[in-house]
Amino acid sequence: MLSLQTVTKRFGASTALDAASIDAGPGELLALLGPSGCGKTTALRVAAGFERPDSGRVELDGRLVAGPGVFVPPERRGVGMVFQDYALFPHLDVAANVGFGLPSRGRGARVEEVLELVGLSGFGPRSPGELSGGQQQRVALARALAPRPGLVLLDEPWSAIDALLREEMRGELARILRAEGVTVLLVTHDREEAFTLADRIALMRDGRVVQAGRPEDLYFNPADRWCARFVGASNLVPAELARGFEGGGRIGDTGDVLLRPELVGLEIDPAGSAEVERRTFLGHDVLYRLRLADGTLLAAQRPSNEQVPLGSRVRVRLHEGPVTAFERP
Ligand code: ATP
Repeated sequence: MLSLQTVTKRFGASTALDAASIDAGPGELLALLGPSGCGKTTALRVAAGFERPDSGRVELDGRLVAGPGVFVPPERRGVGMVFQDYALFPHLDVAANVGFGLPSRGRGARVEEVLELVGLSGFGPRSPGELSGGQQQRVALARALAPRPGLVLLDEPWSAIDALLREEMRGELARILRAEGVTVLLVTHDREEAFTLADRIALMRDGRVVQAGRPEDLYFNPADRWCARFVGASNLVPAELARGFEGGGRIGDTGDVLLRPELVGLEIDPAGSAEVERRTFLGHDVLYRLRLADGTLLAAQRPSNEQVPLGSRVRVRLHEGPVTAFERP
């Protein structure tokens, strides 16, 4: 549905996109995840046609919209966009905002339909200024969906909504987008948001996509140490290969093994070789920092019904689960 192929975009001396390739299939929700300044918004703007790539190609639904000698402007791409600040027209009522740009034939019916889809039936005559942030977001979404685009672009759509509402809104938004069956490209720097919503995640760094895959793949099988740390708390434990395994490697090879904190179990044992050095209560879980006899620090995350007091001596036991090994550079 959307394909950015080795797209480069420079602004003066800074390279916002550096041969970035991004693909989203029909009906897929793809999250662009990465730290501030990595090029997420630029990728979205290139997809929408607000920026012209310096090189590379952009295809929408199999049609070339940007590439050598070709540039299709935003209004002819059939792409819906929800901006961070929603960009509603303050002087138009909700219905006029949603119907903006729709052909007059069937406009009223389509406006009613999308307002119902976003849970705002009957809000048509209201002014955007009378609505809450969450309601304005839904109007912006209704406006993006009204012309039945094949692709919707969302740029940090929750930045103007307070944390409490955000989780509820996320679920709601995902439901609406799935109901429409539209392809979605979502920009976020929040890994939890990407994990909860996305079918696949494209993780970006310095203008490049460093890994793309299902949330589980990024979490348990990160491409490198940086990816491992970006998507979650990580223990990178020095290790030596003692037995052959399917993935190859030679006995005696050394590297680091990624152990997610929830794979690290602990049992109170006065003869144990580790000590609970720090303990952070997270509500559903407790995060522990353990110091092993040789000074190695390990993060462990356990459900909060297994609370172990600070300063306890413990025995560490690894739970079964996926681990990834990285070679030493
Ligand atoms: P954030 O999460 O902070 O919004 P981002 O990942 O969306 O960041 P971009 O906004 O795409 O990042 O910016 C990527 C790089 O390109 C940054 O270094 C930024 O300063 C630069 N950049 C983006 N737009 C412009 C512009 N119009 N003019 C100059 N530099 C720009």
